[in-house]
Amino acid sequence: MTGFKTLDDLAAKTPAGAIVLVRADLNVPLDETGAVRDATRLERLLPSLKQLSQAGYRIGILSHFGRPKGQVVADMSLAPVAKALGVLLGQEVAFAANCIGEPAASALAALPEGGICVLENTRFHAGEEADDAEFSKALAASADAYVNDAFSAAHRAHASTHGITQHLPTYCGAAMQAELEALEAALGAPQRPLVAVVGGAKISTKLDLLGNLSAKVDVLVIGGGMANTFLAAQGHDVGKSLCENAMLDTAREIMAQAEAQGCRILLPSDAAVAPEFAAGQTPTIVSSESVPSDQMILDAGPDAVTEICSAFDSAATLIWNGPLGAFEIEPFDTATNKTAQHAAKLTQAGGLTSVAGGGDTVAALNHAGAGPNFTYVSTAGGAFLEWLEGKPLPGVTALKSN
Ligand code: AMP
Repeated sequence: MTGFKTLDDLAAKTPAGAIVLVRADLNVPLDETGAVRDATRLERLLPSLKQLSQAGYRIGILSHFGRPKGQVVADMSLAPVAKALGVLLGQEVAFAANCIGEPAASALAALPEGGICVLENTRFHAGEEADDAEFSKALAASADAYVNDAFSAAHRAHASTHGITQHLPTYCGAAMQAELEALEAALGAPQRPLVAVVGGAKISTKLDLLGNLSAKVDVLVIGGGMANTFLAAQGHDVGKSLCENAMLDTAREIMAQAEAQGCRILLPSDAAVAPEFAAGQTPTIVSSESVPSDQMILDAGPDAVTEICSAFDSAATLIWNGPLGAFEIEPFDTATNKTAQHAAKLTQAGGLTSVAGGGDTVAALNHAGAGPNFTYVSTAGGAFLEWLEGKPLPGVTALKSN
């Protein structure tokens, strides 16, 4: 990986016993009892933490949790997450009641070699989101090196992702490295043909993403509710379907821009329709050009599935964001399931590099049983989307420049 210093570089420069701060993303969903509902993000941290611990470093973990907006908010404490992390690691994880000052310094100093301590929520301090220079310095005060292993927080220029890199030798963690390598393989220097699937509800939330992708990919599959707006922009009646009538000109512009750049837009040629967005309905399959006025499109139809799968067959690389239909309600998960399962099969056969992420995508691919067989599924929401939009991520830029 060019331009980044990795954990191997850290090991070459840093003696055992040194204090290494790791910026992690411990912002995981908790249930009412304080138990972690989905530990995926914690599991992805284990390789970096184990490598650093085994090398004898004393590790302080920095993370935000929720949105306390610079105040101490008791139910946004990282203490329960520290416990859950300890269980996953199979080692005791200490906890410091403040991420700066004496509590942090003494907790870190008390660690044995290889010991790990979670420092309290960085967002309990207003300086975190303000990327404040003094707060950044205070975070760095008792440490010898800094590792960023939180790609999902890299779209924010905050003290613990950005400012701190001014004060400590900075390295890229193993999970961050895997994410950056996957993203590079998908959009930076991809094998072609490159196909992108963009689904989900609305165009208006994905304008930058559609603009960036249409300039870079060979085929852009548009699905979900947003496809309805494109169909309407082509002059088709979409009945009662979700459709952003204010975006018809924008949809036409995106189609013209894609054509000018040699990107083929693939819209669903048929659709599963029903009278309303509700469970327990038997859908009718209709051509996308003749949706009855009392029906709404809730999924792509079987011909569209065949066309999308055939685009995947010819592809070397696939990027996926958003479901192709209202996948939360059966049977409107059919197109998402079938196409995702086909992409997973091609990936496992070695013919396709498949990278997915953002919003509901992880849930949709896991619902299809396909997620684990993709090359890489990003658990980063906003950071993945901003990367798809082609925006520089401050947390990643800071890793390069330090
Ligand atoms: P997004 O968060 O933009 O990725 O959108 C995901 C949401 O789009 C999911 O909740 C889907 O149920 C919804 N969706 C997908 N296709 C349709 C459709 N044809 N009509 C209404 N909602 C849809």
